[in-house]
Amino acid sequence: MKTSWKTLLLLSLPVIVAGFFLWQGLLEPTTQSLSTNNTNSRMTYGRFLEYLNMGWVNKVDLYDNSHTAIVEAAGPELGNRVQRIKVELPANSPELITKLRESKVDINAHPSKSSGAIWNLIGNLLFPLILLGGLALLLRRSNNSATGPGQAMSFGKSRALFQMEAQTGIVFNDVAGVEEAKEEFQEVVTFLKKPETFTAVGARIPKGVLLLGPPGTGKTLLAKAIAGEARVPFFSISGSEFVEMFVGVGASRVRDLFKKAKENAPCIIFIDEIDAVGRQRGAGIGGGNDEREQTLNQLLTEMDGFEGNTGIIVIAATNRPDVLDSALLRPGRFDRQVVVDVPDFNGRNAILKVHAKNKKLNPNVALEVIARRTPGFSGADLANLLNEAAILTARRRKHSISMNEIDASIDRIVAGMQGTPLIDSTSKRLIAYHEVGHAIISTLLDNHDPVQKVTLIPRGQARGLTWFIPSEDSSLVSKAQIISQITAALGGRAAEQVIFGESEITTGASNDLQQVTSMARQMVTRFGMSTIGPLSLENEDRSPFLGRSINSGTKYSDQIAIDIDHQVYTIIDHCYKTAVKIIQDNRIVMDRLVDVLVEEETVEGSKLRTIIEEYTRLPKKQVYVSHLSQNK
Ligand code: ADP
Ligand code: MG
Ligand code: ZN
Repeated sequence: MKTSWKTLLLLSLPVIVAGFFLWQGLLEPTTQSLSTNNTNSRMTYGRFLEYLNMGWVNKVDLYDNSHTAIVEAAGPELGNRVQRIKVELPANSPELITKLRESKVDINAHPSKSSGAIWNLIGNLLFPLILLGGLALLLRRSNNSATGPGQAMSFGKSRALFQMEAQTGIVFNDVAGVEEAKEEFQEVVTFLKKPETFTAVGARIPKGVLLLGPPGTGKTLLAKAIAGEARVPFFSISGSEFVEMFVGVGASRVRDLFKKAKENAPCIIFIDEIDAVGRQRGAGIGGGNDEREQTLNQLLTEMDGFEGNTGIIVIAATNRPDVLDSALLRPGRFDRQVVVDVPDFNGRNAILKVHAKNKKLNPNVALEVIARRTPGFSGADLANLLNEAAILTARRRKHSISMNEIDASIDRIVAGMQGTPLIDSTSKRLIAYHEVGHAIISTLLDNHDPVQKVTLIPRGQARGLTWFIPSEDSSLVSKAQIISQITAALGGRAAEQVIFGESEITTGASNDLQQVTSMARQMVTRFGMSTIGPLSLENEDRSPFLGRSINSGTKYSDQIAIDIDHQVYTIIDHCYKTAVKIIQDNRIVMDRLVDVLVEEETVEGSKLRTIIEEYTRLPKKQVYVSHLSQNK
């Protein structure tokens, strides 16, 4: 009797520890979804204070009695987009609230959902109870079975491993702007619905399809649409959920997933973020991740294990195809790859149509105009844009969304929250000259996109902004266009220098200078647009942690490095001189434009061009494009 108690105690020690982790793991998803509203980025308290001091914080939502906060911040380090970040706050910090008030941050407190001490009490009681119960269960199991520890360790099974949707309810018509991908998948749908057509002629349908593309382009949506069209169940799991603290859990999850899928065939298995498990094996620094390798091996085994025609199709998505293990891409696995890219003009138009269906739009809203103003937006960005506009409309107590709300939402998504304009002062005039400098140079250069508007209303980090109308989606950009862009971007600094003098130039141009330098460098090292010649001298810009290319040092000599720096300097110097010259030659019209801008705070592109035309001739293209944009 005595000895058995001892062994029991010895046995239970690791189990208690394991049980504790398991409990923590179980608890985490619920508390997270309760309090964070789908925010998965976090930062430390110190960092938050830093952001606050920089004036990057717009809004703070407090949760669980001010222990956690979701911070809405936007700043250059965050790519100038509004981001929601979670912060753990120290207990009792009344100074923080005063500080937030002082910085005019929008504060919101939310009562915690599981309110009341009763729940806390029950929670406290429940924890040891469940722990003890689990302990007894595990012990009984390991005592009964012959396999012993193997059994005790099989808690990979006990968690909700993957989601299964019997019907996704999404059809191809919900996905727009990806016509090629849809065509490709039409065949997969037919296979799931009528496999006979294929098997009769001995065709083997691909087991796996890999969707490649940047985030928010509709990969998940497409996979769901396939299941919806074929009316088959949809199993989904994210690659990161495979990778766990316990070795072997990931592999057992893969096994379970495929087992369930086989029971429900025909069906679709969707693995999101497959790069989390499918990275190149054996190249990690400091020893590979064994767990990940095992998971990947299991995945490969499972995919080889089922016959081509069992009716299971595995669809995986990633935005990092370059880091995938080559074994995944072999025939018989993910041998079909479908690229889902950021939509072009027509794609954006089609996506907007889909999302405008359930929105009340004013008849003055033309979706083509929105599509034209939003190059680089993904499907998710566009959906978000229409939603923001709808929220703004409701806040303004209007009955339908007008172009005004949509414009405001685009500006907000691209450049951040609107701030309050400066009162008339020297610095307001300086900012006005800076912006007019950009605007006038871009208007007088033949190869530059026309100005949409110039504004002195601050947004995000910028204290003034010049917006352009992207003329068309073109993936090819000429050397003359880049030179024009560099020159116009230098226009702000050039105006400061010409008008206020060398000693008065400001830090306001730092963002411009960053862009200019990067563009000029790319001209030399990537596009072969300098006297060094048509060479690609780009460094492989990959992190060694991603599995590949550990020694991606420079591929060129020190002499070439000096040449590159020299060429970059020459390009920028040349453009800056052009910018200064244009400013000097157009001083009178600039003074007039600055007066108008300081007075009205926003000047539309058409008005700007009309004023400039009174003093000087516009290049042909500017006149033509501005007509086009007015008619549209
Ligand atoms: P991904 O998986 O590529 O990151 P999602 O499929 O999750 O992107 O897209 C997120 C949301 O964005 C979708 O739910 C949908 O509302 C919208 N969306 C993205 N792409 C499209 C598209 N091509 N057509 C219609 N809506 C889209
Ligand atoms: Mg997705
Ligand atoms: Zn500028």
